[in-house]
Amino acid sequence: MADNDFYDILGVSRGVGEEDIRKAFRRKAMEFHPDRNKSPDAEDKFKEINEAYQVLSDKNKRAQYDQFGKAGVGSNGGGNQPFDGFDVFGGFGDIFDSFFGDGTGRSSRQAQRGSDLQQRVVLKFEESVFGAEREVEITRLEQCGVCSGAGNEPGTSLDTCNTCKGNGQVRRAQRSVFGQFTQVTTCTSCQGRGSIIKTVCSNCRGGGKERKSRKIAVNIPAGVEGGMQVRLSGEGDAGNDGGGAGNLYVYIDVQEHQFFQRDGSDLLYELPMNIAEAALGADKSIPTLDGEDEELKLPQGTQPGTEFRIRGKGVPHLNGNRRGDLRVTVDVRVPGSLDDRQRELLEELAQSFSNSGKGGRDDKGIFDKIKEALG
Ligand SMILES: [Zn+2]
Ligand SMILES: [Zn+2]
Repeated sequence: MADNDFYDILGVSRGVGEEDIRKAFRRKAMEFHPDRNKSPDAEDKFKEINEAYQVLSDKNKRAQYDQFGKAGVGSNGGGNQPFDGFDVFGGFGDIFDSFFGDGTGRSSRQAQRGSDLQQRVVLKFEESVFGAEREVEITRLEQCGVCSGAGNEPGTSLDTCNTCKGNGQVRRAQRSVFGQFTQVTTCTSCQGRGSIIKTVCSNCRGGGKERKSRKIAVNIPAGVEGGMQVRLSGEGDAGNDGGGAGNLYVYIDVQEHQFFQRDGSDLLYELPMNIAEAALGADKSIPTLDGEDEELKLPQGTQPGTEFRIRGKGVPHLNGNRRGDLRVTVDVRVPGSLDDRQRELLEELAQSFSNSGKGGRDDKGIFDKIKEALG
């Protein structure tokens, strides 16, 4: 096809006049314009037509072509020349204005992005801290696999829209006090497509889309919190007319942990201590989410509510390698019941405090509680 004669391409005979070449070109270009003709070879054909016209519309080039063939006009036979939208028309924009709407040649149909979808996942507390791989199952609109989104039954052709003659736009002359002007609107008969489906695709009933069930792998980063969403771009519903697909938002829910709570990138842990440990000091094993306990040395006279920090044992920052801290808060538990021996010891202790003047204001926290417990 690439070696076709330029006259054959335009469908004219050799001796034909300039005006006839121009008319033939217009007719052929209309027929094979890639925006209007959806057959797979339309673009190649359109390039060929354009190339033929470039030569035959130029007196000198045409004479050379008549004498020497394609070698005379330096043509490579078409097909390999860069095709850059509508620049090829050069000075012929005026002609094509009336055919292709606004002169850009693009139909006025608006690209529409597909809808976003949302899916919820429930994470274990540890998964939210260290990240997780999950698979979510969604149902989304995808391009119809039978008609590739065209909407017509494969093998059937499209009719050119009668209202807009395939243009996708309708021009209307309107009079106003300022004079006459032309209004261009999207053709309502074909919604700007320029064509009408004769036989609708039996799979999508002409809509060009179908619902598909998909399993999507979701990489949940370390450090997420309940209420956050992970965005998977382009995994939502398919768009319309060249508009991209929507996004899939994976909504994160996190289960509570038996021991730990979250405060930003810190983990919170309440350490239960008895009054003797608080008063005397103690070595305590603190559980961590990493699995290995951390040893924490509590000094004598540790007050209730005192906070200790274990660095770097908290939650990883969402963007970065650093981790928050594990914050340990001391929760001094006053015994609710005592055996005889314990009561005896505490009474002795109470006596000792009152003799020495201890257990006053400064030490209120623990010793008030002791007194309360002793009733
Ligand atoms: Zn279909
Ligand atoms: Zn139309």
